[in-house]
Amino acid sequence: MWPWEHLAVGYLLYSASARARGRVPSENAALAAALGTQFPDLVDKPLSWTLDVLPAGVLSHSVFVALPLVGVVLLVARRVGRPEPAIAFGIGYLAHLPGDVVPSLVFESRPRYWFLLWPAVPRPGVDVSDPIVGPGAGAGLLTHAAYYFEGYVGALLGPRGALYVAVELAVLLGAVALWLRDGRPGVATLAALVRSRRETT
Ligand SMILES: [Zn+2]
Repeated sequence: MWPWEHLAVGYLLYSASARARGRVPSENAALAAALGTQFPDLVDKPLSWTLDVLPAGVLSHSVFVALPLVGVVLLVARRVGRPEPAIAFGIGYLAHLPGDVVPSLVFESRPRYWFLLWPAVPRPGVDVSDPIVGPGAGAGLLTHAAYYFEGYVGALLGPRGALYVAVELAVLLGAVALWLRDGRPGVATLAALVRSRRETT
């Protein structure tokens, strides 16, 4: 899925979890959830798309990395008495993983989920023109992003595109509505960061 899709799904899940526990997402927790939703791509895509150092193109998309990593983050956060941002990060991160299976479920004949279980499940078709390889590892972030965006637009124009767009819009609007209702958590911190940067330049 694309960054905005991960962000919307992760925020919806985190906010729902916070509300179920009688809380409203705080500034730090909302930002941690947002970071968690992007974390696997922030790690794996530069390592693979730019640096070409991941043999299968994935690392943090695997549950064998994600679960221990989230576990350590939760433990450390608990130790320092700040568990909520870690919970938010963990929910955002773990929501990302099944999210990346969704496009193949909708647009392809078979769901693509090997990366969740790598290295127990090897990456299929590494040596041929596998669509996951795209322009080839190491080709660069922009080249890969352009390649996948072209495929995404093509899929949206296909037979299931309208349904996908309708569901995506509903999820995006739902996430924005919930975030507004939560009091726009994260904005004040980001605005303060931008202000302090401006003052130092
Ligand atoms: Zn991803």
